[in-house]
Amino acid sequence: MLVINQIKCSLNQINQLKQRIASKLKAPLEDILHYEILKESIDARKEVIIVYSCLVNIKHEQRYLSKQDVSLYHPEVFSIPPALKETSPIVIGFGPSGMFAALTLAQSGLTPIIFERGSRVEKRLEDVEKLWKDGIINPESNVQFGEGGAGTFSDGKLTTRSKDLRIHHIFEMFIEHGAKEEIRYKQHPHIGTDCLVDIVRNIRNHIIELGGTFYFDTKVESLLIEKETCIGICANGKNYYSNYVVLAIGHSAYDTLKSIYTDQVYMEAKDFAVGVRVEHPQKMIDKNQYKQYFKHPLLKASEYRLTYQASNARGVYSFCMCPGGYVVASNSNHGEIVTNGMSKSKRDHVYANSAILVQVKKEDYYKSSVLDGIDYLKKIEQQAYLLGGSNYYAPCCNIKDFVYDTNNPLIFKPTYLPGVKQMDMNSLFSTSILLSLKEALLHFDKKIPGFIEQGVMIAPETRSSSVVRILRNEQLESLNTKQLYPCGEGAGYAGGITSSALDGLKVAIAIIEDINKGVKQ
Ligand SMILES: Cc1cc2nc3c(=O)[nH]c(=O)nc-3n(C[C@H](O)[C@H](O)[C@H](O)COP(=O)(O)OP(=O)(O)OC[C@H]3O[C@@H](n4cnc5c(N)ncnc54)[C@H](O)[C@@H]3O)c2cc1C
Repeated sequence: MLVINQIKCSLNQINQLKQRIASKLKAPLEDILHYEILKESIDARKEVIIVYSCLVNIKHEQRYLSKQDVSLYHPEVFSIPPALKETSPIVIGFGPSGMFAALTLAQSGLTPIIFERGSRVEKRLEDVEKLWKDGIINPESNVQFGEGGAGTFSDGKLTTRSKDLRIHHIFEMFIEHGAKEEIRYKQHPHIGTDCLVDIVRNIRNHIIELGGTFYFDTKVESLLIEKETCIGICANGKNYYSNYVVLAIGHSAYDTLKSIYTDQVYMEAKDFAVGVRVEHPQKMIDKNQYKQYFKHPLLKASEYRLTYQASNARGVYSFCMCPGGYVVASNSNHGEIVTNGMSKSKRDHVYANSAILVQVKKEDYYKSSVLDGIDYLKKIEQQAYLLGGSNYYAPCCNIKDFVYDTNNPLIFKPTYLPGVKQMDMNSLFSTSILLSLKEALLHFDKKIPGFIEQGVMIAPETRSSSVVRILRNEQLESLNTKQLYPCGEGAGYAGGITSSALDGLKVAIAIIEDINKGVKQ
């Protein structure tokens, strides 16, 4: 089998991929026995073209090996090592990292016990609806907490900068549990919140079939630590013991983080980011990206990625862009406002949204405690709640009014629910963050004309990464607490669904290897 890269198709040629492969190889069409798309990306720099990499089964393949963009296919094989001894690792949290840790452990023959403070995804849907419709927050079951973790109500973007080959395995797992096969080859794969809910449920059921046990609506209150070794957890006043505890709590479990900090588990403060969520007509983004082709039926809602270095040396960047999506209330507690974004699998809503985040450095907030970042974020979130009218309406304004200090009626009603309150955003952030944001928006307007004029902004976006990193050794165990495996975004080792899932997988493999090492000794 051959891998052929750089097969270029105009929009009219998308349905003639086999012919394009034959033409690229200068091969007879009938010699192509089978082909499969490995990668599909859109190049819209000049004309809009689709660029493919394909796996091709062709007669006389040796003839084509010397051609440009052609190579022999070497399949990358990853398999989960079987565990050589039965035991039940504890997994705290069932977001992408805990989910892939638990799934991998179960697939290796172990019987993980999963504790999730939030509800099953079916009940969680109702809780989240209550916030979005009626402004009623359930602090244990919301957009951050519950089965599937923070990624369940999301765009389900699977993009990551990691080149780790095990990401293919993660995508295969998503497909096996209900994701569309296209995530295997799309340049920017995404699942959509409507499909994620089913996938999460399917993975849970698979883990149960393999012998795993779930405790939903069950918050782990504390770790059981003896002689610098984690020997289990305490939940609902009951102790559960295990030689392996995966800590996959996400970035919003401040109470759990505080408890672990009190236990003196090593952690360090880290940089993070804060900002706003901007919303624009999707059509405007598409026009900029696809130019005259923007109405082409084969082109999906387009994305953007923007970066800027502000004059005060702060990085500003677009983050978690949701084409054809919705801005969503993502707070996890009473009296706070947090924005984020989600899309359905079709990404067919008329608005696009994205966070615009400004780097917050440790020296911006650090006073005396590793956890000072929590107070920094909470202050912004609580201030937004008060400014919004203490009813979960989020502060909002036209981007133009923010940049030029003017005040005009909102140019459109943002998608954020339960609602927004138009206001001056200047009191939400420090002068330095405001300056960086304003400069960046002016710069982004040059990249995407209309970015300022045609957009609204809703704030604050504060939960994009963890405020700490829980330190671990090469075996992925806590640096000073044996048998504890900090994992995923909350531990500071991932950002986003795929990298969190990958970290969960890595932690599971580390645990299996440790078990097997013990058996062999
Ligand atoms: C609205 C929204 C949209 C997003 N969109 C995208 C996207 O499109 N693409 C992308 O890559 N990323 C997206 N993200 C980010 C992504 O969801 C996170 O990076 C990812 O979920 C982190 O995975 P995790 O498993 O490390 O943590 P989490 O997903 O946060 O999961 C942690 C879990 O631990 C549980 N937990 C916490 N404390 C305890 C405790 N004491 N006891 C028991 N359980 C506990 C929580 O309830 C939670 O379910 C989005 C996030 C949000 C909020």
